[in-house]
Amino acid sequence: MKILVLNAGSSSLKYQLFNMESSSVLAKGTCERIGAGGTITHKKTGAEPLFEEIALNDHGVALARVLELLISAEYGVISSIDEIDAVGHRVAHGGEQLKKSTVVTESVIKYLETIVPINPLHGPPAIAGIKACMKLMPTVTQVTVFDTSFYSNIEDFRYVYPIPYEFYEKDRIRRYGFHGTSHRYVSAELAKCLGKPIEELKIITCHLGNGSSITAVDGGVAIDTSMGFTPQEGIAMGTRSGSIDPTVVTYLMKTKGYTAEEVEDILNKKSGLLGISGLSNDCRNVSEAAANGDERATLAIKILTNGIKKHIGAYAAEMNGLDAVVFTAGIGENQWNIREKVCRDMEYLGIEIDEDKNRNFTRGIPFDISKEGARVATWIIPTDEEYMIALDTQVLASK
Ligand code: AMP
Repeated sequence: MKILVLNAGSSSLKYQLFNMESSSVLAKGTCERIGAGGTITHKKTGAEPLFEEIALNDHGVALARVLELLISAEYGVISSIDEIDAVGHRVAHGGEQLKKSTVVTESVIKYLETIVPINPLHGPPAIAGIKACMKLMPTVTQVTVFDTSFYSNIEDFRYVYPIPYEFYEKDRIRRYGFHGTSHRYVSAELAKCLGKPIEELKIITCHLGNGSSITAVDGGVAIDTSMGFTPQEGIAMGTRSGSIDPTVVTYLMKTKGYTAEEVEDILNKKSGLLGISGLSNDCRNVSEAAANGDERATLAIKILTNGIKKHIGAYAAEMNGLDAVVFTAGIGENQWNIREKVCRDMEYLGIEIDEDKNRNFTRGIPFDISKEGARVATWIIPTDEEYMIALDTQVLASK
């Protein structure tokens, strides 16, 4: 079975074509600057990448070009579009109703349109990507896989915010959680690595990238997570503040005359590692500056790692136990310095890592960094959200 996975952003469209029999990627790429010019980077596995500048007026035009490339003589990997058995769409937000991966129907699209107000950035491009596919590949099964659906079992006292209840009831303001596909994938992979049923494990998964979230997975079920109504809540990120006292927002508006959009821009794009360090949102650069003695970079790294530590402690308490901690995504997979700082002085919780293994880890594969005899297993597990989407799509398309 061949499955095309699409991830549409406001001006981008990422794609991967999987051969499910061999669990391999046949080709992948990214369309960027959609609506404002257009570029495509396309890579057939095992071949040199193609880069082209081409007018991409909307997601439909971008998808049409991607399909052309996939069947082209030089860069293609299939001879006809009919070889694509199903398409899996990454959709960030499934709202309260779309609780699991779903075959696309008119009513799914209608519901996604009703929740655009709570998903203004990712909703419209995702819907545009789905509609473009339905037009260009009308007979192919389309599946939507939601970042939020892994959190559909979180209990109300963990997702309702302590503000007037009508804001939840009428406006659907609540914790939704994000990165669920990644947390679901790495927690399942970890269970496989440990050779234990996931139902018996209490796992904390740390997805640390430019956007970061931490999830408590008890028996394979996400019971709490750090991101909330939007991906803004939780720990400090590349440019996002994470959780702060909400009064800071109104204080800034009142005393500095900022508009809502301006404060949003500050908290989303100018905060986090970038805001504190004043140098970069890239954790590699901030870590390097900290290692060279830069005070604000050092502070940024301390704020980040302490935030992760606090969530691990809180989630171990919520689960009343802890068997494993997983690090994943750009920072989690690659930056030993962050993992070392997070895991230091955590013996009380049972977390002890082997500093040598942590520093000399092997990239790109699941890697155990636990100290021998540690009560809690600590692993690096490379995430693969696209493959998880392809797996869900395969299951639903095979029905
Ligand atoms: P992500 O959002 O998952 O792509 O992660 C991006 C973050 O990972 C940035 O802060 C990078 O500094 C950090 N990072 C560190 N090492 C690497 C690496 N080798 N490749 C990609 N990202 C890295």
